[in-house]
Amino acid sequence: MQLLLVEDDLNLGQALLKLLRTQFTIAWVRDLAAARSRWAAAAYDLLLLDLGLPDGDGLVWLRELRNAGCQTPVLILSARDALDDRVAGLDTGADDYLVKPFEAEELLARIRVLLRRQAGTAAPHISVGDLSYAPDAQQFWLGGEPLRLSPQERRILVTLLHAGGKPVSRERLMQQLYGLADVGGSNALEVRIHALRRLLGRERIETVRGLGYRLVAP
Ligand code: CA
Repeated sequence: MQLLLVEDDLNLGQALLKLLRTQFTIAWVRDLAAARSRWAAAAYDLLLLDLGLPDGDGLVWLRELRNAGCQTPVLILSARDALDDRVAGLDTGADDYLVKPFEAEELLARIRVLLRRQAGTAAPHISVGDLSYAPDAQQFWLGGEPLRLSPQERRILVTLLHAGGKPVSRERLMQQLYGLADVGGSNALEVRIHALRRLLGRERIETVRGLGYRLVAP
């Protein structure tokens, strides 16, 4: 996936480049003139567009693109948070509008939504045995029955599921639960694992000594 980022703020641009290039091919330009020439030279799957740029307003360029029939998804990243600005952005043809400052996770989630919509497909369900997960709805099913999980239990289960049967360390799961906070000595993770085992059946979450936990199909 090729993304074009138009952002004049040096620090934000560098941070976004670092974040996004782990998952996408990304080009970064800092003004409209450079954006126009990049756009003309290559095909992009998504445009991340700042509005206040040194040589003009991003909305002006967006209007030109849409008038020319361009249908590439556009996500506006702007500090302009007034309702009028957001409406103007969307009316001009942006697919989504994210107000700065934003969380990395939110940006990534919105990019995924736009790229999926563009591809015309919903994210596929992931299954391990008769346990399945729909990423779009963030819903788990066991044997066709929807599971009611707390947000923490869901996070743990999603992490185990994405590991594809490989063990996930205790540290990584704790990070999913508490972010980067240090909660050493807490048995909160064990409590959640215990709750999940009660719901899913003991044998589905295996303790791998010294390595962590893994999800298995019984
Ligand atoms: Ca700017």
